[in-house]
Formats: sequence, structure tokens, C-alpha cells
Amino acid sequence: MLHRVDTPNVGGIWYNEHLKMSPEMIEKMVIYARTHRCEFVSLDEMADAIRKKKDVRRLIAITLDDGYRDNYVNGTPVFRRLNIPYTIYVCTKMVEGEMLYWWEILEQVILHNNQIVLNDGRTFDCSTKEKKEQAFLDIREIILKLRQDKLGEQLKELFASYDIDLQLGNDHLALTWEQIKELGKEPLATIGNHSYSHLAFTGCTDDEICTDIKHAADEMRTNTGIEMQHFAFPFGEATAVSQHDIDLVKRLDFKTSATTKDGFVCYGTNPLELPRLFVTEKNWKQVIDRIVANC
Ligand SMILES: [Zn+2]
Repeated sequence: MLHRVDTPNVGGIWYNEHLKMSPEMIEKMVIYARTHRCEFVSLDEMADAIRKKKDVRRLIAITLDDGYRDNYVNGTPVFRRLNIPYTIYVCTKMVEGEMLYWWEILEQVILHNNQIVLNDGRTFDCSTKEKKEQAFLDIREIILKLRQDKLGEQLKELFASYDIDLQLGNDHLALTWEQIKELGKEPLATIGNHSYSHLAFTGCTDDEICTDIKHAADEMRTNTGIEMQHFAFPFGEATAVSQHDIDLVKRLDFKTSATTKDGFVCYGTNPLELPRLFVTEKNWKQVIDRIVANC
């Protein structure tokens, strides 16, 4: 599981930067994995191997969550050169330019100030790199507890003394429909559904969840002609995905659905509950060593 294909910025906040893996490091990882007899396959091939109970040992399917523009700009050339299949799970609200990238907004405020004072008086020391990292985590916790449906307004209130831009990132972070159409022509690329609004399933009704996922499918079909057959839960950790959610996704006829539950695909793994391994610029070697040691 990757998110972004870009070089992490050393001056940035690690919590955001660790979502990036550079093309150079992806190449190193792939070469290292191949020398250890790992094979890179598409999600269709992975699903087929699971269903037909074929040997899934050391099969790796690369997935990228959310639909960042760098997946196309920086990712496509390296995946093509290495001949690696990959799946990009697109959150279509990002493509529409309607996303609230609050974690990017928070990073900008923290990087540009030596101290943050929220509207309720809570103060965070941001005078050093370490303190900035800690302030990010602390304020992140506060933001996650806000009402998510009115997040924009609430952020404006919380950061009343700062000039924050709620549109930050909407002009350059996400894939465009044109780029997704191009990806649709790439034999190595698969486009998957990551919901419309990246909603947390916990706290939503079945109807709300289905409507959101179908809305993403409709938008994708209308704008690119692509039918998405694979799904990734927007918040895929074990605690956020219930058996009920998995049954719900089953009714929507996806071939596979991916969680962020850490682990390997094994004999008998449910294709609608795929575990994944989070690779970063720093941990990729350990991840491949773990696969080699266990499979
Ligand atoms: Zn996501």
C-alpha cells in the first residue's frame, strides 16, 4: 500500500511526508523484491489466484490510495519502465476539486509559525522541528474529533487568528479526469473505487455508504468510461471495517476490497477483506524481508 509517488520533503511534517515514496526508492524496492523471487501481479491476477486457490506466495500487488496526481506524473513512468502492474484507488471528490486537505493546511500553519494559539486559547509550541511534529499530532487529534460534516467552518473558527486557505491543494494534488482516462489506456494500471467523499463508515447508515460508493462509480463512468471492479475502504484499519461493512461491499459486486489491516494474502484469504502492508521511503526493505521470511 502506497499513497503518493514523490520524494519526501525533509523539512515537512513526517506524518504527511511518510505518505510519499520516491520513484527511485520504488525502483530499488522492486529490484530487491525480484532478486528475492517476488512477483508483481495485478489485483485481477491476485483475485484469480485466491479464488482458484493457486499459490499466492510472494505475489505482490501494488496499490496506491486516494488518487494523487503524482501517481500519474511520477508513478506511471517508473511502473512502465519496471513493468509493474498497479492499482490506484480514486476518491472522486478529490478529482472534483472539492476536497478539504486539512492535514496539508495544518502542516502549512505549523511550518510558518513558531507557536499556534487556537481560538479556545490552547497553545502549541512550534519553535523547533520536533515541537512542530508533536504539535501536528496533537492538533490532528483535535481536528479528528470535530464534526466532519462541517469541518471547513470549524477549521476556520479553530484557526481564527490565522489566514487558512480551505481550498489548499485542490488545484494540484489530485488526478484529473483526463489523467485517469490516460491511465485507463495503460495496460498495467487498474482504477479502483475509494468512495466519493472518503467517509468514515463508522457512524454512517448503509444507505449513506452505498450512495457514496455508487456516486463515485457514476462519476467515474460518466467522466472516463471506466467501470471500477475493485474497492478500498477509506478508513481501512481493522477497527474501522466490520463484517457488516464487508457484507455491504459484497452486495455492490466488487471483485476485491482492500483494508489497511496489516498482513499478507494467504491461502483462504477473503478477497473482500485484503490485508495490506504499508510501505514507505524508510521501511520498504523490512517489508520485503517480512514477505520473504513469511511466504
Ligand atoms: Zn484513503
